[in-house]
Amino acid sequence: MKFIITSLAFIFFTISTLLSQTHSTFYQNIVDGVKYDSVLNYLKKVELLGVKSPGTTALVNAKSWLVDKYTSFGYSNIQIDTFTDNGDVLYNVIVTKTGTLYPNTYLIVCGHYDSKAGWSGDSPGVNDNGSGVSIILEIARLLKNVNTEYSIKFINFTAEETGYTGSTNYLNSIVIPQNLDIRLVFNIDEVGGVAGQINDIIKCESDQSSPTVNNVTSAAFTDTLMTLTGLYSSLGTNNTNAYGSDYMPFQSAEYIITGYFEENQSPVVHSSNDDLAHLDTSYVYEIAQAATGATLFLAQAYENSNIIGEEKSDYLINVFPTPVKDQLYINASVPIYKIELFDVQGRMILENVLSNQFNNTINFSEFENGIFHYRLSDKNGNVLKSGTLVKTTN
Ligand SMILES: [Zn+2]
Repeated sequence: MKFIITSLAFIFFTISTLLSQTHSTFYQNIVDGVKYDSVLNYLKKVELLGVKSPGTTALVNAKSWLVDKYTSFGYSNIQIDTFTDNGDVLYNVIVTKTGTLYPNTYLIVCGHYDSKAGWSGDSPGVNDNGSGVSIILEIARLLKNVNTEYSIKFINFTAEETGYTGSTNYLNSIVIPQNLDIRLVFNIDEVGGVAGQINDIIKCESDQSSPTVNNVTSAAFTDTLMTLTGLYSSLGTNNTNAYGSDYMPFQSAEYIITGYFEENQSPVVHSSNDDLAHLDTSYVYEIAQAATGATLFLAQAYENSNIIGEEKSDYLINVFPTPVKDQLYINASVPIYKIELFDVQGRMILENVLSNQFNNTINFSEFENGIFHYRLSDKNGNVLKSGTLVKTTN
């Protein structure tokens, strides 16, 4: 429990007994829905589809399979981003789940579905990247009917293996021209581990590349991802540099990225041996649980009974700056009665009744760096605004 001093609050109390859970049981119940057999069946299908490189029927069949799966989960907002590269017609598969509070701000959860062909061998790509695809399918299945404050785009990129061709096309033809507001790109690539080894650690990847303007926020989200991984799986974590996958075009364009990559690195990816027998399906299952818990938090999923529908998002409330260093300012055109702050584990760390209901300053200097969720309510308990903040010291 942290105690902080706010400059204007005259009634100040923290609650230690009401909210002592270290993680959300609501999220855990959803994470518990991850099925080992679902993951296994997706991986088997990826193997069966064969070598999915540009120009192959297998790649087109994989696209159709993905569309069928997302459709069977109940999604209707499925966009096929079609383009041509080196004479091959290619398809990114983009599934959008609309957020309730920030419908125009997107969490991208992505993993490529193509596989490698060429001099190093023709690969069915069960680990690289059937593992990521299987996990994303499972997350999409479980989150279909869960309310999230932020919108989510589940994306399976094509032609990652030819140099991020699919993700680069999506960025340049859709994200930048449409000026999409992207909260975070969470990439999952090659998370199958190595059969016969103990696979119990996952690399959580942060942006350590140039441009550096987006690196601090990536580090904060990656720390959060590590915490969430510990909460919703039995896996250990290792913070490493992000490189060599579809998040790189996004980081180059100054978007915020994070990702998962296997700790024990498979020696058979990009070869014909990248099959089911060479990876660890239990490891993929664990990561599916971690990734589901992480996605729930990163998209700010909430129980239907929370009635966030009562939020009055048209009120003019400015919460700034973000990232926040020492002082957080809240300026409002309507009276705000109460602010609540939660840490990444969902624990309430501050509950203040505000002295000045229109202009407030909250002291953040005593908080550790990381991600916080805030909620502002009126006197009747209606949520006026909620959101996420990043605290940094630099
Ligand atoms: Zn890959």
